[in-house]
Amino acid sequence: MELFDLKSATLEELQTFFAQIGQKPFRAKQVYEWMHKKQAVSIDEMTNLSKELREQLKQECTYTVLKKVQVQVSKLDGTRKYLFGLADGNVIESVLMRYKHGNSVCISSQVGCRMGCRFCASTIDGLVRNLTSGEMLEQIYRIGEDIDERISNVVVMGSGEPLDNYDNLVKFITMLTDANGLNISQRNLTVSTCGLVPQIRELATHQFQMTLALSLHASSQEKRRELMPVANKYDLKDVLEACDDYFEKTGRRITFEYSLVGGVNDTDEDVEQLVRLLHGKNCHINLIPVNPIKERDFVQSSRPVVEEFQKKLQTHGITATVRREMGRDIDGACGQLRRRYMEEA
Ligand code: SAH
Repeated sequence: MELFDLKSATLEELQTFFAQIGQKPFRAKQVYEWMHKKQAVSIDEMTNLSKELREQLKQECTYTVLKKVQVQVSKLDGTRKYLFGLADGNVIESVLMRYKHGNSVCISSQVGCRMGCRFCASTIDGLVRNLTSGEMLEQIYRIGEDIDERISNVVVMGSGEPLDNYDNLVKFITMLTDANGLNISQRNLTVSTCGLVPQIRELATHQFQMTLALSLHASSQEKRRELMPVANKYDLKDVLEACDDYFEKTGRRITFEYSLVGGVNDTDEDVEQLVRLLHGKNCHINLIPVNPIKERDFVQSSRPVVEEFQKKLQTHGITATVRREMGRDIDGACGQLRRRYMEEA
């Protein structure tokens, strides 16, 4: 018999499961709150359930709890990078960033990734597996417990392509923003994608009030294809149309991420083409000086080039910010901590 994954179940799914095992629906709500409001680390903690019910749940269900394997703390800005162990022995990484407006957690959505972006460390060994909704939530719960402070913002920008794990992502969003759980505002959630067109269109129909971030990284189809293999599957024109559709359906302005790679996508021609591409769109550009990884020879654009790039966008009425680099003194780029850990192991 396959065990029921308690922490990955929405309240509705949990109620259905409890009905199947002959339990009252209000028990499902109690268990849900233990998991998602109080973030209990074991079924035994659920003391308002009878001992028999707790035993039954332990027999018939799995209870996901991540194990803290390693934490790196930045001396510069308090950024904390976590390596978490999963029940099957895989490890994933998550990051806590402290801002004036609150604590933000960046989570992984998959173990590894199969998208193959040229500058990214997460994808070098391909995809191992999808994370469950419970494993995505747990990254936030365990970090909140570790710092004993409220987490107010969540970004799905760690390892993995969230829209390649679509069903679990949608459940994750539902549960994260559920009043019976952590109750994080949808407005404080950002999901970043390399641009899977059908999934962007499907996501738009849910009308979540979250921010969709699109990894653009190039201003033409040809150049994008060189950096992101996914562009061979989806043409830039179709990706941008899907983003327009997302904006129309949700009213949420798209964030475009553009990692600046020295001499590759940071020239005058690049910025001029980018202006033409995004002209008239209600959007925001986040410029990210590329974080060099040792497996590739990409270099960061110089500071003056980054500033000039930003200025040109702004002159043309396109809001552009440069992402502040957090935790420079710890393994910063997506997937680097996990890779180093695996190399040592
Ligand atoms: N799969 C999602 C999430 C990836 S990580 C996506 O593609 O959007 C979040 C962002 O960091 C993406 O824009 C990704 O392209 C970018 N990124 C990955 N590695 C990077 C690096 N070494 N330097 C700068 N940006 C990087």
